[in-house]
Amino acid sequence: MPCVYQLSREELDAALTGEPRYRADQVFQGLWRDNQAVGEISTIPKALRERLGSEFPSSLEVAHEVASDLGSTRKWVFRLADGATIETVLMAYADRVTVCVSSQAGCAMGCTFCATGQAGFSRQLSVGEVLEQVAFAARAAAPRRLSNVVFMGMGEPLANYAVTSTVVKRLHDYRGMSARHLTVSTVGVAPAIERLADEGLPLTLAVSLHAANNETRNELVPLNKKYPLERLATACHYWFDTTSRRVSLEWALIDGVNDTDRAAEELAAFALPLHAHVNLIPLNPTPGFLVMGTSSRRVFEFRTLLEDLGVNVTVRQTRGRSIDAACGQLAAVTNGKQRVSLRRS
Ligand code: SAH
Ligand code: SF4
Repeated sequence: MPCVYQLSREELDAALTGEPRYRADQVFQGLWRDNQAVGEISTIPKALRERLGSEFPSSLEVAHEVASDLGSTRKWVFRLADGATIETVLMAYADRVTVCVSSQAGCAMGCTFCATGQAGFSRQLSVGEVLEQVAFAARAAAPRRLSNVVFMGMGEPLANYAVTSTVVKRLHDYRGMSARHLTVSTVGVAPAIERLADEGLPLTLAVSLHAANNETRNELVPLNKKYPLERLATACHYWFDTTSRRVSLEWALIDGVNDTDRAAEELAAFALPLHAHVNLIPLNPTPGFLVMGTSSRRVFEFRTLLEDLGVNVTVRQTRGRSIDAACGQLAAVTNGKQRVSLRRS
């Protein structure tokens, strides 16, 4: 059974046929503007709350919740109706509150350094399952207002294209979020990047590059064999030319692999013509990838090298490492079994 966030405005109207016309407005307002769960919408009668609650039950059951960074980072493991599990992370900063949502249970892309990739693919998420993660996190963030949604949890959002594009449209149209506050991160599905640009969706595009020579990128990101750097660059240029919005390039720094002077030069050569912004992320540890992250001294040097080459660059603050909630660490086992943590003590 779909959850209530699966419904478009028109479908919600249809579900409330027989009720006074203003009821649909009240439900819509409660769900999308006031961030209420169905059971909390006090402007509608109790019987209607109960009917909606049983016809459109929640799609997320909290299996596990953990917090770190003095409570400013929270991670939930949700069990879905069929037993698949996903993870969602809420991060509160001084100037913004961001939720990192999963777009798939698992991921089929197999990036070697990523815990989700190491665990494999289970299934696509539905529109309702992604939007309910946002609604859940927004309620948990109160009294602060959830300001940003990033598709950087489990899964490759552009391998679930129809769902991702509908979710982005609804967050924009129904929740009133702007492109600046919606970020879709992709491993580089080139044709889907071009399609996103053509459709003019209101979002910020982040491309997980990690290497700017094909030999290294083939090893880190198997999809590079299908869409090599030249093809990816074409798609990124198309995005910039069509939308006038800059791409962010994500780069997880891996000791001795992509943190050399040469790697910085290759990255600069890729980023500069695109006017791209580079985000450096020190590699987060995962059980299946034994190479180390770059030392903080070298991260600083690498950043300086890029700046000297004229690249616009920031080092992303790592959040939630101690609870396996940081980038690339989400690996809730997706077959319904208990999660096995191999983290060193
Ligand atoms: N599939 C999409 C979005 C989810 S991954 C993508 O790959 O872009 C979100 C981000 O985490 C990506 O930039 C990804 O490259 C990065 N990431 C994956 N594993 C990581 C790790 N072990 N350490 C740091 N970042 C990692
Ligand atoms: Fe999938 Fe992204 Fe992880 Fe690659 S980095 S395996 S695309 S979630």
